[in-house]
Amino acid sequence: MTESALVRWADYDAALFDLDGVLTPTAEVHMRAWAALFTSYLSAHQISPPYTDADYFAYVDGKPRYDGVRTLLASRGVTLPEGDPSDPPTAETVCGLGNRKNAEFEHELAAHGVAAYPGSVALLDHLATLPIGLAVVSSSVNAPAVLAAAGIADRFPVVVDGAVALDHGLPGKPAPDTYAFAAKQLGTDDAHAIVIEDAVSGVQAGAAGDFGLVIGVDRGAGRQTLLDHGADVVVADLGELV
Ligand SMILES: [Mg+2]
Repeated sequence: MTESALVRWADYDAALFDLDGVLTPTAEVHMRAWAALFTSYLSAHQISPPYTDADYFAYVDGKPRYDGVRTLLASRGVTLPEGDPSDPPTAETVCGLGNRKNAEFEHELAAHGVAAYPGSVALLDHLATLPIGLAVVSSSVNAPAVLAAAGIADRFPVVVDGAVALDHGLPGKPAPDTYAFAAKQLGTDDAHAIVIEDAVSGVQAGAAGDFGLVIGVDRGAGRQTLLDHGADVVVADLGELV
């Protein structure tokens, strides 16, 4: 059986896409920005073990920014004051460190731009011919900027990003609430919506919400890991599902 035979798009009302790592290769940009932050922070404070990409997948990937900071620090037995989102990037707080990472991300995005994955665009083109609602569900507050930079903003009538989640008091991934909110915005329920995710926290969100189908996209988290945490189907590229 081919992968495309595993997904009958016509059976669903909505396709809910994570952004970073699913539609655009910005997971790599986030990954580099987190590495820049934690490599220097842990070494400056002589905290071991040093930061590696495995930490990114285990503790940070897909989560709201400050949750990522707090979780990674906890893995090293470190607790910092929470601080405030208005903290400068120099502040030694959870928010300050998160803002330091975001400054790094924005710098990289401005310097290099971003292009959507061709396979993902091929799938979006295909879905545009079907009566299926499309949404982006991202923990990032940078989602609108990334969608615009990649030239795919007009494909999505609904975008639930970090700012929308905050406005509506929705807990971030791995909680299912942001995905459920997007399904509702598209006029359907969880059972008739497909969640498409590359992060462990994201497929966990899909599994927690009883969605119709959870598609994992393996960009490094690992096929079996995504299956173990809630993906029903895993592909290497969304072009396989056209
Ligand atoms: Mg992602």
